[in-house]
Amino acid sequence: MSLSSPLHRPEAVSDAQVAALAAELAAHHPGLVQLSAPADLARLSHDFHDYSPVLRQQLQGCRAQLALRATSVEDVMAVAAACARHRVPLTPRGAGTGNYGQCVPLAGGVVLDLSGLNRIRGLDPATGVLEAEAGALLHHLEQHLRPAGRALRLMPSTWRTASIGGYIAGGSSGIGSLRWGFLRDPGNLLGLEVVTLEPEPRRLQLDAVASVPLNHAYGTNGILTAVRLATCEAVAWQQLVVDFGDAEAALAVAAALPATALLLQSITLLEGPIAACLPAPHGCPPADPGSTRLLLLAAPDSLAVLPAWLEARGGHIRWQVPEGEEPSARPLRELGWNHTTLHWRADHPDWTYLQMLLPEPAEPLIASVRRSWGSDVLWHLEAVRHAGAARLAGLPLLRWRDAAALAALMDQCRQLGAVLFNPHVLTVEDGGLGVVDADQVAVKAANDPAGLLNPGKLRGWDAR
Ligand code: FAD
Repeated sequence: MSLSSPLHRPEAVSDAQVAALAAELAAHHPGLVQLSAPADLARLSHDFHDYSPVLRQQLQGCRAQLALRATSVEDVMAVAAACARHRVPLTPRGAGTGNYGQCVPLAGGVVLDLSGLNRIRGLDPATGVLEAEAGALLHHLEQHLRPAGRALRLMPSTWRTASIGGYIAGGSSGIGSLRWGFLRDPGNLLGLEVVTLEPEPRRLQLDAVASVPLNHAYGTNGILTAVRLATCEAVAWQQLVVDFGDAEAALAVAAALPATALLLQSITLLEGPIAACLPAPHGCPPADPGSTRLLLLAAPDSLAVLPAWLEARGGHIRWQVPEGEEPSARPLRELGWNHTTLHWRADHPDWTYLQMLLPEPAEPLIASVRRSWGSDVLWHLEAVRHAGAARLAGLPLLRWRDAAALAALMDQCRQLGAVLFNPHVLTVEDGGLGVVDADQVAVKAANDPAGLLNPGKLRGWDAR
């Protein structure tokens, strides 16, 4: 059974074409680092798609023929011009932490490593608007914002290693989604600087509206060189681990907390076996596999109310430490989102996962899946704000059976009202809402007329 539209594998380019491009760049841009050792090409052609047995199989053997390392916008323009002239595909790469094989080059060609394009251009003290080059790590942006009392609104749990360009082009949500929704929600991304892939590349300055089609387009319709973001006031988040003997009580609390006036940054719900497998923060008692655990990031002023509120609903606070003061240097924000999947798979490599927005209420779907899959599905939930309303996202872990069983589970969840974000597919559309976004395709036609940017990842382009 097929899980997505068939893999469109774009035509590969010849080694001679790539060699001509490399020679031209070496002659005219001798400072641009070129990497062609097989180990470098293998490393820079890989991301975290191994979570999916489907993608693992589909992406076997996909390798760049050349990797280039840009440290300036001029470097990016030189590479874009050369790729356009030599008709060589170009796949942009930040830190390579994506889960959908987003930066794995399907047609070989060039991988452009943007991690060296990482300067912070400025923070407006009046508005808190931050502008940074695309390769800047989220961790470094946070460090820059803190002295000004500001913080990133949203970040993936890979915040230490991921780049802001990769997060905008490949990510969707994460820590902070409880307050700020999804990256594509109007108001989070305020502008982009973009380089086009043409013989004479253009350097575009896009406002918030013009940036929308490039937000979560996997780098298929422009190379992001800088990003302008709204930030928020920094809060000294308190980390709490709360255990519940009763799974339904824990779910009720995760659903009810966003309706209080307590300021929270994240709510992660983990079924007992998952919580027991995760590394416990130093000093926190290990989870009982029969219980359900909540991980909370809560504002200090919430602590006047939160403990009694939780106790009254069956929750027992097991651990409470301000962020940054945890002795293990393992913050709670690195146990949720896809770090949960990462830790679980380290011990259970034969498991995989799904991503979905759960219906409201979520209990009937969870109960139905429990009936059909038993303990081969374990629930990990994250509280998010979706279209202005508090909702629960599900990132369930599941024992891999086969593609047909996975497809049947996704159908079951859809029928029960979930919106699936299928992490076992390669295209922007199949991993999102399943529909072609005409604006994304139109921007690709304007910025990448030869279709050389990350080919095979935008279904709407290939289907024209
Ligand atoms: P990469 O993986 O390098 O690239 C991602 C995509 O963006 C690719 O298509 C690439 O071609 C494109 N791209 C990169 N840079 C540019 C650029 N400058 N211009 C144009 N295109 C570009 N994601 C979330 O949304 N939320 C999470 O909470 C989350 N948690 C994660 C936890 C783990 C353990 C892992 C492995 C992944 C997680 N992810 C999450 C996915 C991923 O880490 C994030 O989306 C991350 O922000 C990607 O950044 P990156 O720099 O690694 O991008």
